[in-house]
Amino acid sequence: MIVFDIPLQVPFRGVTRRQGVLFEGEAGWVEWSPFREYSDQEAATWLRASATVAREGHPEPLRDRVAVNGIIPAIGPGEVARRVAESGCRTLKVKVAAPGENLDDDVARVATARAALPGGAIRVDANGAWTPDQAEDAIRELAQFDLEYVEQPCASVEELAELRRRLDGVVAIAADESIRRATDPLRVRELDAADVVVLKVQPLGGAIACLDLAERLGLPVVVSSAVETSVGLEAGLRLAAALPELPFACGLETGRLLTCDVTAHPLQPVAGQIEVRPVRVDADLLTACRADARTERWWLDRMHRVAAVAGVGLP
Ligand SMILES: [Mg+2]
Repeated sequence: MIVFDIPLQVPFRGVTRRQGVLFEGEAGWVEWSPFREYSDQEAATWLRASATVAREGHPEPLRDRVAVNGIIPAIGPGEVARRVAESGCRTLKVKVAAPGENLDDDVARVATARAALPGGAIRVDANGAWTPDQAEDAIRELAQFDLEYVEQPCASVEELAELRRRLDGVVAIAADESIRRATDPLRVRELDAADVVVLKVQPLGGAIACLDLAERLGLPVVVSSAVETSVGLEAGLRLAAALPELPFACGLETGRLLTCDVTAHPLQPVAGQIEVRPVRVDADLLTACRADARTERWWLDRMHRVAAVAGVGLP
């Protein structure tokens, strides 16, 4: 079992380092990396996901490549064009409604992204930060840049549903937090709150649970990562490869957010697509990414507590 601690290239949703545990089961290496502030109860779902992969491996792939979106975090317009070029992706996800910013900042960032990617797809993610009124104003303004969808514009599923009625198809709505942190993800469907759903393997308890949820939701799925190492990313990639339909690019181009990875061949896109292939862990890189003794203790204590909550045996 290896506890890793990897600085991020740029802060992502307030996180500056990514930490977690990598361990090897019968079916290969897996990652368990719930965010530090999550409760043991929530982290238990993540551990069930990792334990299932460790035991059973990944579902059978239906495709050998998965298109992914490039990420434009809350950076100034001056840096946007370089990142668009660097990603090589034909779809971009642009962060909006970031703390300390306003709609002018969002418009400037999305406008620059659109200028850098004419003809490509652009989606934005507000991480639930807007009220329905703010969201309606912002989305009507941002719609001029021809958006593929707006991800989690408001926090609650009821607000998403209200906003979706008000917008009446101006821009499609995607549900992310309303799926993965909800007590009942099927509410999104019951309330007609979204056109697209974002699924993440660890937070939703594993690829099999995600495939089942996708079928019950009956909505197009975008698979996204939880900003993992290539080991965790592979689980997302394998889910994306196993979905019967995959109409949108997935949010799996997060490998480049980490300053190092645990494999010599990180899962990163070539021409906007990631090849579906096994990740081979590199012993030297594992050592390079290893956490200090204090962080390691904290994670191993957490893992043993959470394993008891999850009813999962550890290797
Ligand atoms: Mg999101």
